Amino acid sequence: MFGRKAAEKLDDAAATLHRRYGKAGDAVANAVITPARRQIDTDCTRCARGKCKKH
Ligand SMILES: [Zn+2]
Repeated sequence: MFGRKAAEKLDDAAATLHRRYGKAGDAVANAVITPARRQIDTDCTRCARGKCKKH
């Protein structure tokens, strides 16, 4: 059900929240996105695309 496309969306959403809202965005991402992201067994898709600033 969850696959790489979903992982990409979640990773992008987390990055967008961080960019727009800083720490507040990170808090939302940790509460809402991270639990869903953990269900998907895929490495950080932003790293794979060379967009990641976290890893
Ligand atoms: Zn990454």
